Amino acid sequence: MKKISILAVDDRPENLLVLENLLESPELEIVKAGSGDEALSKTIDHEFALILLDVQMPDMDGYETAELLRSVKKTSTIPIIFVTAANKEDHHVFKGYESGAVDYLFKPLEPVILTSKVKIFIELYKQRIRLEEKTRELDAKVIELEALKLELEHSNKRLRHQSYCDGLTKLPNRRFFDQTLIKEWRRSTRDKKPLSMLLIDIDNFKAYNDTYGHLAGDDCLRKVATQLLETIFRDVDTIARYGGEEFAVILPETDSDGGEMVAKRMLESISALHIEHETSQTGNHVTISIGLGTVMPTDDFRETTLIDLADKALYRAKESGRNNYQVSNIVPDQD
Ligand code: GH3
Ligand code: MG
Ligand code: MG
Repeated sequence: MKKISILAVDDRPENLLVLENLLESPELEIVKAGSGDEALSKTIDHEFALILLDVQMPDMDGYETAELLRSVKKTSTIPIIFVTAANKEDHHVFKGYESGAVDYLFKPLEPVILTSKVKIFIELYKQRIRLEEKTRELDAKVIELEALKLELEHSNKRLRHQSYCDGLTKLPNRRFFDQTLIKEWRRSTRDKKPLSMLLIDIDNFKAYNDTYGHLAGDDCLRKVATQLLETIFRDVDTIARYGGEEFAVILPETDSDGGEMVAKRMLESISALHIEHETSQTGNHVTISIGLGTVMPTDDFRETTLIDLADKALYRAKESGRNNYQVSNIVPDQD
């Protein structure tokens, strides 16, 4: 263990020897200085727990030395015990306290008083060091915890994103769609605005997989997803992968005419991709069929009403030859 250093300052070497002998202990290192100047220079490369300072010294006396020690940041808080041969007159004591002393010892030194006073200061020093160590440990823990918190926040965000994102197409997934539809349904009910929804299904996609393989099928799904995303322009619109080769779009504040415009744009832009599909019933490239549902939401219906409408319209689009859209805006009976 590192020894605790005490600085003993006295112009008479024999006094320093007496101090050294009295304080000798395995945990203490007594550093000796014969003058105020030497004392100051010893503080440069040592860290002292306590300074025992002779008051009567030639050149710079103990009080001046103490004042200089107090004026330097590194030594300003080191406790000083003045060792004085002077009698216990008040004005001496007072002068000592003005220059920052914390205690007095009178010559000739009483060994018991000296050692017990020094012991108290050493204990205080040890407590301060322990406290500093604990504070450092705590600071390090706080930094560690903050880094951990940041990491957690990041992975939470990542997980949240993942749980709402379709891995293949990178579009929002069904889960996100369902939650958004509920929100938009409520908003449209409140605002008394029409709400439209498109259900989009790739035509003859099973045949596509059978002809070109499943990986090519995945690739086709990605291309269609990207293209569909390009055809919706408003921030409030939501497109999601609804299931296998089906996509769904929510169009808030959109009536049937508005929904038809988006549906037409989608049919044309997917057709314009010209993804080869030689086993398709609709031609030689990939096409889609769309079901459009539109309702004026009220508290009498649930959001699934809109899904039913779009689904029925999609069924009719398939029935009527695919590569087209059909519209449903009649609310079915609620039984
Ligand atoms: P229709 O024109 O009536 O929609 O016929 P279809 O063949 O597209 O419809 P069907 O429901 O019979 O087949 C859908 C196909 O989509 C079958 C399924 O293997 C394929 N599919 C679903 N999800 C994926 C996917 O993630 N990757 C690939 N490659 N194929 C998928
Ligand atoms: Mg399908
Ligand atoms: Mg299909």
